Amino acid sequence: MKVGIDLGTTYSTVAKYDRTSSKAEVVNNSFGKELTPSVICFLENNEIMIGEDAKDMQAGGVGIIAASFKRGMGDNSFTVEANGKVYTAEELSGMLLKQLISDAEAQLKEKITEVVITVPAYFNDFQRTATIRAGESCGVKVIKIINEPTAAAISYGYNHTTNKTVMVYDLGGGTFDTTIVKINKGNIQVIGTDGDHILGGKDWDAAIVKYVCEQFVDEFGVDPRDNESAKNELIVAAENYKRVLTKTGSVPIQVKYDGNVGKYTLTREQFDTKTQFLLNATKDVCLKLLSDLNMQWSELDEILLVGGSTRMPQISEFLEKLSGIKVVSHEDTDLAVAKGAAITSELYCSNNTGLREAQITDVTAHSLGALSVSIDGKKYINEIMIKRNSKVPTTCKKSFKISEGNMTDKIEVYTLQGESKVPLDCYVLAKVVITGFFNNGNGATIDIGYTYDENGVVQVSAYQDGEQLEVNSEELPEDISWMNDVPGSMPSDVPISKNIVICVDLSRSMKISLDDVKTSIKDFINSVADENTKFGLVGFGDKVKILKDMTPDTNNIIDSLEELKVNILGRGTDGSPLGTAQMMLSGKTGAKMVIVLTDGIWGKRDFAVSEAIALKNARIATVAIGFADADTSFLRQIATVEEGAMFTTLDGMGTTFSTIATAINSGSMGMRESSEERPRIKN
Ligand code: ADP
Ligand code: MG
Repeated sequence: MKVGIDLGTTYSTVAKYDRTSSKAEVVNNSFGKELTPSVICFLENNEIMIGEDAKDMQAGGVGIIAASFKRGMGDNSFTVEANGKVYTAEELSGMLLKQLISDAEAQLKEKITEVVITVPAYFNDFQRTATIRAGESCGVKVIKIINEPTAAAISYGYNHTTNKTVMVYDLGGGTFDTTIVKINKGNIQVIGTDGDHILGGKDWDAAIVKYVCEQFVDEFGVDPRDNESAKNELIVAAENYKRVLTKTGSVPIQVKYDGNVGKYTLTREQFDTKTQFLLNATKDVCLKLLSDLNMQWSELDEILLVGGSTRMPQISEFLEKLSGIKVVSHEDTDLAVAKGAAITSELYCSNNTGLREAQITDVTAHSLGALSVSIDGKKYINEIMIKRNSKVPTTCKKSFKISEGNMTDKIEVYTLQGESKVPLDCYVLAKVVITGFFNNGNGATIDIGYTYDENGVVQVSAYQDGEQLEVNSEELPEDISWMNDVPGSMPSDVPISKNIVICVDLSRSMKISLDDVKTSIKDFINSVADENTKFGLVGFGDKVKILKDMTPDTNNIIDSLEELKVNILGRGTDGSPLGTAQMMLSGKTGAKMVIVLTDGIWGKRDFAVSEAIALKNARIATVAIGFADADTSFLRQIATVEEGAMFTTLDGMGTTFSTIATAINSGSMGMRESSEERPRIKN
């Protein structure tokens, strides 16, 4: 027997797939309830209560309570001590899972041997593996870990026959997640996910507390928030006021503190105004996701609401106004995730019936990188190998050349999860050691594979001449602060000089404001300029014109931006922007880069692509920035580095430029001076 389990922060649910009805059904707990509180209570007499009983104890203030331990998954510093024993979040989750499973077995009168467990999409590698281990500690096989929003989309869409693109908007108690999914005849394809993991219903509660306390302070000159227990009481009460406002237009509020009694009324309208900034915060996440995926609202068919907080009427009103598209609430907001997990358990078993055609593809919420040394040798960086929102499973292989004269027989790889170039801003996942390769000091090459498996769990593999090498995990060193230091063994300390040519498409098909282009370029120049950097500016359309030849003078290059006008090319010459840029860069020392801003509508494309290859061979990095309608495959061919093709809208241009600036300043972005193969992993 197999089931799906929504292992929630506050409540957990078990569901199974029923082949007769072709539906997922919730399996009630031993109290006949669909939801089991994710709470464990340790009594003084060593008795342990889990779920409903534990929640009762919590309300009565009895025993030691472990709750919300999901937040501590994968974090060894999160522990609960009870009766002389220390429990990690993983162990607590294991205990809860055991209870959920045995309750379900009693209900189903069958042994459960396999489970699918859901996790938040943003769960990192530590949290996912901890969840798998918690499941396995119950003696069941964890067939799969699946992302909660994906599970919600599955339970919503697996029997939809029409094609739909849906944004799942999941606002829970403490987290917000948004995921875009394509549903096509039972195939569920996740195309991107993002979230804010400290934004949730609790912030709406806090807004009520703030509103009430401010009035209380005005009236009585004392603040209930100064007293820990008065504050906690108010927070709990605020959640109830909030629920009342979901049903009715206003709620009376009474606050007693320090001998004073304040009486207030909160209308839904006031509540909505006071919490507008929180809605806006969710909007920012949605817009960022759309822009990362190069999508518009109009490409979505629906927004699907899940999570308890989406019951607030303000949510759907806001989203409808914002997006102009249909907002639907999941018919069973609280059970959708468990049901999706149950359907998944059917899908992933060998003899599934009826669902055979269905397929699920998911993406990773975090980029996966390796610790590398920046090209100027000055710092350690996170060299991203697999970008966020890549489809899983996926593997990225990179060759790593051991420098000549280096006779090492082992390579250490540190894997990092996160978006920052700064290693310690990311999760340092693991240290793996690769051994057993041939190296006689003549520059051996090792291929390293970075993988996200089906569960979003990270694996590292290594090969030499196609043969798999031994890869062993080692305990991460206690102190990894050296990742902030200057890499010890790296050679040159001299600052690398940079040469950057900016080519701007001035043809009439460019439907963007040149003023905005100028501002973005100016900001960009200011953020990368230093005494070792030279800039040049080229305008192109059917002709090409060098508007400023290479100059280290920042003011000079910025002044030349005024030359960016649509009609300036009349006096230009025939030729191509890339060829012109290469000419401008020839003979220059240091790293070289060309940035092309275009709508991608070029006349001589094949020629441009062959020129781009010439740039690459000359070790000139090319970044292509395309606007909304830009031909993405063309830009990819132009760009020399994988991350060098960027698509943006007018609004996003500033961000795109600052991304490049950050990348240049951190020494990545494929600006190379030496010929050594990167990443230079610590060895
Ligand atoms: P999680 O998945 O984070 O455990 P849920 O999806 O169960 O959370 O959502 C819990 C949140 O939903 C809490 O902040 C709770 O206050 C809020 N919530 C539940 N019901 C309502 C309601 N009727 N009106 C407003 N908020 C609600
Ligand atoms: Mg949830």
